[in-house]
Amino acid sequence: MALMLKNARLIDPQIGLDDVADILIRDGKIVEVGTNLSMEKGVERDLAGKIVTPGLVDMHVHFRDPGQEQKEDIASGSRAAAHGGFTAVCTMPNTDPVVDDAVAVEYVKARAAAVGKCRVIPSGACSKNLKGEVLADMGDMYAHGAPVFTDDGHGIQDAGMMRRVMDYARQFDTAIMVHCQDDSLVADGQVNEGVASTRLGMVGWPAEGEELEIARDIALCRLTGCPLHIQHITTKRGLDLVAAAKAEGLPVTCEVTPHHMFLTEDAITAEYQTSLKVNPPLRTAEDAAALVEGLKNGVIDAIVTDHAPHTDWEKDREFELAPFGMTGLETSLGLVLTHLVRAGVIDYGRMVEAMAVAPRAILRQEPVKIEAGSTADLTVIDPEAAWTVEVEDFCSKANNSGFIGAELVGRATDVYVGGWATMEDGAIVE
Ligand SMILES: [Zn+2]
Repeated sequence: MALMLKNARLIDPQIGLDDVADILIRDGKIVEVGTNLSMEKGVERDLAGKIVTPGLVDMHVHFRDPGQEQKEDIASGSRAAAHGGFTAVCTMPNTDPVVDDAVAVEYVKARAAAVGKCRVIPSGACSKNLKGEVLADMGDMYAHGAPVFTDDGHGIQDAGMMRRVMDYARQFDTAIMVHCQDDSLVADGQVNEGVASTRLGMVGWPAEGEELEIARDIALCRLTGCPLHIQHITTKRGLDLVAAAKAEGLPVTCEVTPHHMFLTEDAITAEYQTSLKVNPPLRTAEDAAALVEGLKNGVIDAIVTDHAPHTDWEKDREFELAPFGMTGLETSLGLVLTHLVRAGVIDYGRMVEAMAVAPRAILRQEPVKIEAGSTADLTVIDPEAAWTVEVEDFCSKANNSGFIGAELVGRATDVYVGGWATMEDGAIVE
């Protein structure tokens, strides 16, 4: 079936495209891009006033499936992804059971094929059961479709073990993605160590607990040659380490979340909002400003959400007892459009690089470009849509967003995956 997207502003920095034009799609592929295109029969959408970009990819989400489907599952998580404008996500392996073998990879792929509203790319664990002790079956998982590996949720504590992980992974075209956390420093840390931990009277999670592992893993990247991706980076000094590694020519990339850019430790008040309890923690205003600058200047490669859904009852507890994490899939694009693009900090092209181009490259996926021959994974954005973040609007099962009530401008209205609409005019296509 043919599909024609007419009159939208097409933005694709990979090919220097920023023009109002039409896109003709057939059999899941873009067949022509140009002005005044016509077709004999098919579906035509007039997207005047809208922006079309290569489909957005969130390379860091938790769908809790298998094992904790009360929080989220592949059906609800992928609906939330489509609702947020994403055409693909990479799921983290810290499910129950852990995705540390090929059977678990096949489960995620099969569920996504059956009920998914976006492409679901499973990452595999580096170590068995995320214990950091025994290598997981990375080769087998890779052969079954896990393109990247991570023990997200944990740092691999032993440097020798991390070296073995990277030596092993070096055999495939992959990247090791790391959640940098030195447990001997972080222990039961709840909030950023410093002003926030003192003011709130809680155990601190020091920046150094993250920075030490970033430095160590960059050293191991140099030693092994294995591509390294630093997950959810949060500190200014951590960014300096990544910038130096890149300047040296090491294969190091990193990602940032909207909550670490747009919220700081100052947001946590005497109300002890558990929705703001995240790992790594919200840092200082100076760190947040450095993250925005890092995104702008390219030290940061990708924007991710670390979408971490929890049930209300789990978050409705004392701060120390509540689990870490906030949701993000349905607010990420609006936050980035409002606080970065409309604010003039970055342009649409840079946004597309960080939310579509770089994630695909790091995940070893085929590029998607707005040109003939490319897979038709596309995101349609209404840049003028003003809206308020409300829990009633979420497709996710979870409500633990740190941005409830935020007034945003700009959101996705339509999403196409392989030429098929997963969202049309803001509604998920059933
Ligand atoms: Zn993590």
